[in-house]
Amino acid sequence: MTTSEIFKSFGLSDETIALGEKYEKKLEPRFKEIDKTAEFNQLKVIKAMQDNRLSDIHFASSTGYGYNDLGRETLEKVYASIFHTEDALVRPQITCGTHALTVALAANLRPGDELLSPVGKPYDTLEGVIGITEQKGSLKEYGISYRQVDLNPDGSFDYEGIKNAINEKTKLVTIQRSKGYQTRPTLSVEAIGELIGFIKKIKPEVIVMVDNCYGEFVEKIEPSDVGADLCVGSLIKNPGGGLVASGGYIVGKAEYIENCAFRLTAPGLGKEVGATLGINQSMFQGLFLAPTVVACALKGAIFAARIFEELGYPVIPNGTEPRFDIIQAVTLGSAEKLIAFCGGIQAASPVDSFVVPEGWAMPGYNSDVIMAAGNFIQGSSIELSADGPITEPYAVYFQGGLTWYHAKLGILTALDRVLKVQ
Ligand SMILES: *Cc1c(COP(=O)(O)O)cnc(C)c1O
Repeated sequence: MTTSEIFKSFGLSDETIALGEKYEKKLEPRFKEIDKTAEFNQLKVIKAMQDNRLSDIHFASSTGYGYNDLGRETLEKVYASIFHTEDALVRPQITCGTHALTVALAANLRPGDELLSPVGKPYDTLEGVIGITEQKGSLKEYGISYRQVDLNPDGSFDYEGIKNAINEKTKLVTIQRSKGYQTRPTLSVEAIGELIGFIKKIKPEVIVMVDNCYGEFVEKIEPSDVGADLCVGSLIKNPGGGLVASGGYIVGKAEYIENCAFRLTAPGLGKEVGATLGINQSMFQGLFLAPTVVACALKGAIFAARIFEELGYPVIPNGTEPRFDIIQAVTLGSAEKLIAFCGGIQAASPVDSFVVPEGWAMPGYNSDVIMAAGNFIQGSSIELSADGPITEPYAVYFQGGLTWYHAKLGILTALDRVLKVQ
């Protein structure tokens, strides 16, 4: 059997297979660049593991309080080495990205303090956390105020607005690296560095936190290399490499990490407790694989952008611009095509390939939302996954792919199904 024949056995048409071949060929130079970044980051990870003398003993499990968990302590040292920070908190008890961000914010803000977002509205789930929308237990309920400065229409920073927004109450500045599911551009680490420099010139003692979700290992440097005091992310996204069953990380200045640990566990207990229940090995191995996994996801995103752009669909980012996260948006223009796309991603999955995704009334959305994912880890969006609200302009957001070959199969299957809608 040839590779074309195997693709056909998944139901793909000759036209789709040919399009795939054509664009893969065209993207060779771009893919090479991505591999170069992956190589750099792979070496960075291995170096950190060697420098911290990672050993078989660190894969042992702990229970109960989790005192003296050498694996956990070493994992946190490895994260600190990779991100070039004083300390790190990397825990399975951090349940998701939103939780990690909540811990970092609530741990470092006090009543009367103000939180500033100089890059517009943060990720949806943070609206309740901050209290932008009413929510029990929000920062607002604890007397922490919030201010926001939107990006300029061209995506640049509103430096004048930011300067005016910083006041004596401003304690912490939150910068979201990835656009998430908005239409603004994702910020490069370099751009984040410029923004941090500007802010620190106005108020040197302010704490700058970066929501690093979906950005890890996409570039050779991380926000902590350009002045961020805290970087926060999810282990079921990039740095978990697809292997970590649950967790989040916070890296940064020792003082702020201690605050986070006191908040996550209890004041006085901090980092000393937290059983790892046997997942240390996957935390290390996932981190080890993460640079190549991120490269595969990036290739998939660019591959999709190029093909769909060529076929006349608006895509963000476009097929040629630089990438700073792994999310791809494609505007499909009709409900049928959106449903077809998600059906294709689902059908190409290793798990639950027989399931047909449908729109459902997800809490917090005004329209039905359709989601496709056939994952090994529930909700893991470093695995190939797609979703979109079934409403104008019928845009699908997708990300991930643990291997390039799976990303390619998923995108070609989605493409094949979209082409069959007419
Ligand atoms: C995914 C994400 C979050 C939230 O992470 P969850 O694990 O879904 O809670 C926050 N910010 C950004 C930019 C994200 O991509």
